[in-house]
Amino acid sequence: MVPAAIIATKRDGGELSPSDIAAMIGGFVSGEVPDYQMAAWAMAVVCRGMSTAETAALTKAMLESGSRLPRATERPRVDKHSTGGLGDSTSIVLAPLLACFELDVPMLSGRGLGITGGTLDKLESIRGYRCDLATDEITAQVRAIGCVITGTTRDIAPADRQLYALRDVTATVESIPLITASIMSKKLAETLDALVLDVKFGSAAFMQELAEARRLADSLVRIGEAADLRTRALLTNMHQPLGRMAGNACEINETMEVLEGQLDTPLARVTLRLAGELLVATGKADDLQAAHQRLIAELRSGRPLERFQQMVERQGGHFQERLPLAPTRAITTSRAGFVAAINGRLLGQAIIELGGGRKVMGAAIDHSVGIEMLVRPGDAIDAGQAWLNVFARPGSSCETAIQLIERALIIRSEPPPELPLIIET
Ligand code: URA
Repeated sequence: MVPAAIIATKRDGGELSPSDIAAMIGGFVSGEVPDYQMAAWAMAVVCRGMSTAETAALTKAMLESGSRLPRATERPRVDKHSTGGLGDSTSIVLAPLLACFELDVPMLSGRGLGITGGTLDKLESIRGYRCDLATDEITAQVRAIGCVITGTTRDIAPADRQLYALRDVTATVESIPLITASIMSKKLAETLDALVLDVKFGSAAFMQELAEARRLADSLVRIGEAADLRTRALLTNMHQPLGRMAGNACEINETMEVLEGQLDTPLARVTLRLAGELLVATGKADDLQAAHQRLIAELRSGRPLERFQQMVERQGGHFQERLPLAPTRAITTSRAGFVAAINGRLLGQAIIELGGGRKVMGAAIDHSVGIEMLVRPGDAIDAGQAWLNVFARPGSSCETAIQLIERALIIRSEPPPELPLIIET
């Protein structure tokens, strides 16, 4: 292999063979391909793109750089992946809920990235919760209770871990084939029978535009199906945060409400739909409507909440019905009208300012800070009305966060057009 020749082929818009791609990835992991050549190659991919065959070969090479989780039982294995959005804590409800339907859910999750929170950071708001389970611990827990939510182990797609760290600092994250291979190599390593993807767009998500999200969804589904994995993707609107709460402990508290059967919220609606797709894909329900009814009945039975408690306790966590939050302060508006939009990007930045997200890699976070939105787009609002509660520790970063929060609320004299939460499948 001559790495410079492979880089030049991609730079000039050529198609790489599976063996070229496998050689680049294998060489990168072994150290034969240094970071500077890999970064140049990643940039050539960003600029020139990849065909479906190339993306499939990249996914396979990254998957095969590590090992796969073994099956724990004969039960169907399922998972969900979200491309990331503010206030999106669906995973934390989904894993125990689906386990109640005799499905195995070996969920390997990540930490916060940019403005979006990470499932692991949220779960670590629970004192003692371990996110570093080894493969045999994951298998034993899935066998015992059907679900686990933990971090990716060292032997799952190590090429992705190495490449992602390089992409993060070389402006090469934004590429549909690179994102597809990164996500799908990790999901395929879970040895699944069905996968549902929540591809988000809007101010509270990574992708701003529907067309871009649609291209990513298409690419993810194509690569899943090429690997014989039943894969469906939803395109969901994130022009505002999904949940009422955003922030680590805040979101755990909101998921507890869903697990307790409070189901008339956007968070519950998206969770029910994602879970419904997986019940249909595994033959546990004939159609989405039947799946919806079964899911509601299950949540109202209290069993998913018990399963969540079992999961927390098996992973070393101290289960509490509500987690303590930082002191609260209400934010009011001086204008009357209708809520036209709530900018998720600014709210996400505010949470980082409060210490609820990271400014530098590996920084400690304050799990108790966050926000609670008291209005949603379309609501009428009066001058002087409180529209958001902020959970924060007093200080200069709290003042910076409040300035960001105040800019996030857009009020107009007319209500905005209504946009559905789930745009298409
Ligand atoms: N999430 C991932 O796991 N990989 C990417 O490349 C982007 C988002």
